[in-house]
Amino acid sequence: MSDRITPAAPSSPAVDHRRLGRELGLFDTDPLIGSGLPYWLPDGAVVRQSLEDFVRALERRAGYRHVYSPVLGKRELYELSGHWAHYREDMFPPLEMGPGEELVLRPSLCPHHALLFRSRSRSYRELPLRMAELGDMYRSERSGVLGGLTRVRAIRLNDAHVFCTLEQAAAEVRGALELIAAAYRAMGVVPSRYRLSLPGPGGKYVARPELWERAAAILVRVLAELGVPYEEGVGEAAFYGPKIDVQVVDAAGQESTLSTVQVDFHQPERFDLHYVGADGARHRPVMVHRSVVGSVERAVAHLIERHGGAFPAWLAPVQLAVLPLGPEQADAAAALASRCLELDLRAEVLGAERGSLGARVRAARLAPYQVVLGPREAADGTLSLRLRGGRRLGPRPAGEVLSDLAERVRAHAVELW
Ligand SMILES: [Zn+2]
Repeated sequence: MSDRITPAAPSSPAVDHRRLGRELGLFDTDPLIGSGLPYWLPDGAVVRQSLEDFVRALERRAGYRHVYSPVLGKRELYELSGHWAHYREDMFPPLEMGPGEELVLRPSLCPHHALLFRSRSRSYRELPLRMAELGDMYRSERSGVLGGLTRVRAIRLNDAHVFCTLEQAAAEVRGALELIAAAYRAMGVVPSRYRLSLPGPGGKYVARPELWERAAAILVRVLAELGVPYEEGVGEAAFYGPKIDVQVVDAAGQESTLSTVQVDFHQPERFDLHYVGADGARHRPVMVHRSVVGSVERAVAHLIERHGGAFPAWLAPVQLAVLPLGPEQADAAAALASRCLELDLRAEVLGAERGSLGARVRAARLAPYQVVLGPREAADGTLSLRLRGGRRLGPRPAGEVLSDLAERVRAHAVELW
């Protein structure tokens, strides 16, 4: 375990995701929509959707159940959670709905999930209760600091809250770190370091030293058990609890947080959460907040830079580029593309009208797989696969090749072959 999640120096990604995002037609912004509010073009939407599907499947297998909750809540909800007192500067102004009713664009998903937990009585038998949502939240950043997918005002967060007993908390933190490691392997992402984020001086943090110490002790214990080296970051905690931050470095050498795991004793108290124990009495659960890939915007920005647009096959907008040698192979190319569609493989035909074969091979250089269909392949139904980077494989029956590709994509393999 430890060797798989030990941070290593990342290879230096060199390309700004904003430039590549535009060049590759992944996302953009429009002044009429506003800065910090990017939209996703079809190829970018494929990357994002593949990532979201992957995370949901990973979470399902790890025992999470998914929910949906609204992006708005009443101001009183955030007064109760403590966001209003500790986090208001980062929130949009409330929407005045009429006398006594103010709605707030949510700055996090935690308060909604706390309400879902307390929507009915809970037994200790239901714990750990793992509630996940890929949900939208909003941050009121100043226009000047916004850009690309890394500083945005509308955020799609891969979030989850585990409601558990105190005794279960360490195992849940550990399970979350293991999920993060599994996701990073599939994404080809390498953390730059792990940070134990602790409170700093000032009123930003809930003043309950004994709760901070208990929560931090659980995080430290798990990091030690896993043998993960980490550094302390004073003043980097959430306002309600300490957290483990998994850091990555972007193209400009700037470090940011991708994934987090937090232990929280504060919100269960604020929301008066409880479960009925084996003893028949009411007990307070612990909340473990965790995000495997963080915000989808930041995760995709990092993937673009990390891979220079040459995504692992399961994320690639085009997985197989089909290059008919001449117009005579156009029908065979179209037939191959529809076979791919049936197998959930994303194929694109670059026909002879798009220029010389060499030009088309270059145009499709980011696709993980290419095939050239000449008269022989069209006649005998074989494919000679060309892997991104130039490696060529010998001819094999098309059906075999396609089912191998589909299998690699399903397995979220980061290696092409
Ligand atoms: Zn949370």
